[in-house]
Amino acid sequence: MTAISMDVLVSLCKRRGFVFQSSEIYGGTGSVWDYGPLGVELRNNIKRVWWRDFVQQRADMVGLDASILMHPTVWKASGHVDHFTDPMVDCRECKRRFRADQVDEMAWVHYCEATKGNKFTITAGEACKHCGARRTLCPECGKGELSAPRQFNLMFRTFMGPVEEDASLTYLRPETAQGILVNFDNVLQSTRRKLPFGIAQIGKAFRNEITPGNFIFRSREFEQMEIEFFVNPQETIDGRPADEHWHDRWIADCQAWFVRYGLQSDHVRLHEHDRAELAHYAKRTVDLLYHFPMGWSELMGIANRTDFDLKQHAKFSGKSLTWFDEERKEHVVPFVIEPSAGVDRALLAFLLDAYREEEVRGDKRVVLRLHPELAPVKIAVLPLLKKRPEIVATGHALRERLARRWVTVYDDTAAIGRLYRRQDEVGTPYCVTVDVKTVGDSAKGEAGDQRVTVRERDSMEQIRVPIGELDSVFDRLLGGTAWAEVAAGHPRAES
Ligand code: ATP
Repeated sequence: MTAISMDVLVSLCKRRGFVFQSSEIYGGTGSVWDYGPLGVELRNNIKRVWWRDFVQQRADMVGLDASILMHPTVWKASGHVDHFTDPMVDCRECKRRFRADQVDEMAWVHYCEATKGNKFTITAGEACKHCGARRTLCPECGKGELSAPRQFNLMFRTFMGPVEEDASLTYLRPETAQGILVNFDNVLQSTRRKLPFGIAQIGKAFRNEITPGNFIFRSREFEQMEIEFFVNPQETIDGRPADEHWHDRWIADCQAWFVRYGLQSDHVRLHEHDRAELAHYAKRTVDLLYHFPMGWSELMGIANRTDFDLKQHAKFSGKSLTWFDEERKEHVVPFVIEPSAGVDRALLAFLLDAYREEEVRGDKRVVLRLHPELAPVKIAVLPLLKKRPEIVATGHALRERLARRWVTVYDDTAAIGRLYRRQDEVGTPYCVTVDVKTVGDSAKGEAGDQRVTVRERDSMEQIRVPIGELDSVFDRLLGGTAWAEVAAGHPRAES
């Protein structure tokens, strides 16, 4: 179980500048979010690491950055215009809208006649313990009847050009995948690729969700990291069709990636779509679920979409979208394996999993044990005494030097204990403290030892390191060498 409730995380995110409600000074909108100074660093780190691991380091992957506004026929061909819908019900009283398939999973308000009309909020799916009634009315206001379900398209409509008429109607993309699929031939021709190969893209997507919620888990504007991996379905690998082989490999690679960057392996699980859940074009879909505070929910999906999309786009565009198999001398429509992850859900899961409340010498310490590659700030330079100009000057100079290579901050706005706690709370893996011993005392003719204290976040251990060696120490620490190994080469400092 994750140790933290969503409310605690939401409050930490706001207080420390990870995530703010959008347009907050105007009362806010509940369904879109802004990322603050630390949030944008964390978000960029997640995207950078994903891109590096899945695109730059692999010989069989390339990247793409397609536009958000696309030709409207794309969405006809992909099936989004006709099928990207959720069943929706309206409350006739308060006019709130709910997803018909989620309304029974919500806690519901009930005015109980057996207790003179007292108001109760009853757990989802349960009956009133006073009168035995089950929910039939609106779960939020407890008064209105709900309408019959109607299909509601989740795409945002907009108009291209100066005239708002049907001819110029288009959509904000509800996924990044279609931008990759319609560029299949461009990438194939420009890079001379052979199957199997994949195209990746990171970018914004928009869905007019009926019931957004659970903080950044479900919002109306979010970001996706998607891959379309093209496979020759005629080929076999180890006696199995190549698409099935690659599907399994991508499932394993994605799961391992999330664990590598911090999620505890027992907080992640696979969910195989059964026949009822499976999209009509998919051969098999597996979701990666994470144990969010509201329960096991989708972190990402990995689908085998067969040749459905390329065939649809070929049909609607009139362009051939095939690959020529030299060996078999035939044109092949590749099968597509689609690992599709949300940046915001990944960020939420990494934060939840990193959060710890610990007791240190009788005090509570909140620490984000974020993977150093994801941590928004890598190093904090802290002066032990801000009244000593030499200490402050050395601190500023160190920050400037280290910031050329790593995100480094300087903070002297509190006593050292408080400064450490602040950095722990935002997941900064290392602090560098400049003290009297570092700079000495020129008035007394005492030279400093030009050493600083380096403190590690998780163990809170400290070592003394010569200023001249700081770059090579952080090269190792932030390059993946374990703290214990680096610390063994330096004298311990008292904490
Ligand atoms: P859900 O069932 O939760 O609505 P989905 O199956 O519709 O998700 P996909 O279409 O497979 O989601 O999108 C791929 C990924 O994009 C999801 O696994 C999720 O990480 C992210 N995602 C989708 N919708 C949203 C949203 N409204 N807000 C934030 N992230 C989203």
